[in-house]
Amino acid sequence: MAQPFELNSALSERRKLNRFRERRLLESPQQVEQIIDGQSLISFCSNDYLGLANHPDVKEAFIESAKKDGVGSGASHLVNGHHEQHHLLEQEIAEFVGVERALLFSTGYMANIGTINALIGKGDTVLEDKLNHASLLDAGLTSGARFKRYQHLDTTHLLKQLTAVETGKCLVVTDGIFSMDGDQAPLDEISQVAKQNNAWVMVDDAHGFGTCGPKGRGSVAQFGLASDEIQIQVGTLGKAFGTFGAFVAGSHELCETLTQFARSYIYTTALPPAVAAATRASLKLLKEAEEQRAHLNGLTQVFKQETLAMGYELWPSESPIQPILVGKDADAIHLSNQLQERGFLVTAIRPPTVPEGSARLRVTFSAQHTKEHLEKLLAALYELRAEVDLD
Ligand SMILES: *Cc1c(COP(=O)(O)O)cnc(C)c1O
Repeated sequence: MAQPFELNSALSERRKLNRFRERRLLESPQQVEQIIDGQSLISFCSNDYLGLANHPDVKEAFIESAKKDGVGSGASHLVNGHHEQHHLLEQEIAEFVGVERALLFSTGYMANIGTINALIGKGDTVLEDKLNHASLLDAGLTSGARFKRYQHLDTTHLLKQLTAVETGKCLVVTDGIFSMDGDQAPLDEISQVAKQNNAWVMVDDAHGFGTCGPKGRGSVAQFGLASDEIQIQVGTLGKAFGTFGAFVAGSHELCETLTQFARSYIYTTALPPAVAAATRASLKLLKEAEEQRAHLNGLTQVFKQETLAMGYELWPSESPIQPILVGKDADAIHLSNQLQERGFLVTAIRPPTVPEGSARLRVTFSAQHTKEHLEKLLAALYELRAEVDLD
């Protein structure tokens, strides 16, 4: 006989471990100054790096398209939900990324699951960086291919795994900028070792598009790599683009293969056309946001200098994702709570999202943060330095 369901023990175990996750209630738009659970806070934890989520031009495009095109897309892309707004956005993204084609997915999670599963299966191999985003790891695990993880950023370890592949196709998968760590994959070396071993490379640059590379074209463009070196690029629209959804960019052949075989593309409703229209407006702004990117970089550099001087340990990151390594879960929560009392929202990231013993405060910057916002945060971190044992 089956065992009866009993959910409480796992829940109380989680609570005991200081890993119970709770949602906060946001009562303002996604922006730097927020009202959360009734409290006014300065947020340092959004992925809205360029402040486009609440930008007037993006909102205007959304509203105008909703008036003209309606709200629901009504069907999947292959039935009759593929709207002109989707089509135009795909063309504009392909041109922006500098590849033949782009294909819109409903979320980044679905783009990763659908792409990896469409390209490899039983008898093939997928090699992933150990700290890849959960959606990439899930995709590798569900693909049926041999699944191996190499040490973070370690191309020597990757090469060893690549040369051990004897049969089947091989796909190397990495974050461009790592979502919880903020550091960047050595895409030049990765593409080189992959090419020598007939493997393809897939880069999920959810945090790179908009924040790095010429005109915000992301990590692959920053390394100056071509589409025969990095065959698959994934971008998400819910981060620097400030809207919602995701895209896969690459060759005609790649996008056609995904259209035919990616189940999470085929069996789901297309995004609302107005989301695509809003993203077309945000793409225009994102390309031209050189000043914002320079400001973002300035904030990041000052933050690093000052917090290192206070004795905090940072992960080696040049991106707007700046993790303060704390170690113990309880200390990370304590720091986060203390910051909240002082008017700042900085979330504690704990296992299983990050490896055991590497709980952290994940500080992220937006181009909308001012020097004053940063100085206030630094002053609070200075006060709190003595409260946790970081050694
Ligand atoms: C956020 C994120 C995703 C998921 O994208 P969604 O559109 O939120 O589903 C995938 N990969 C990385 C690296 C991410 O940071």
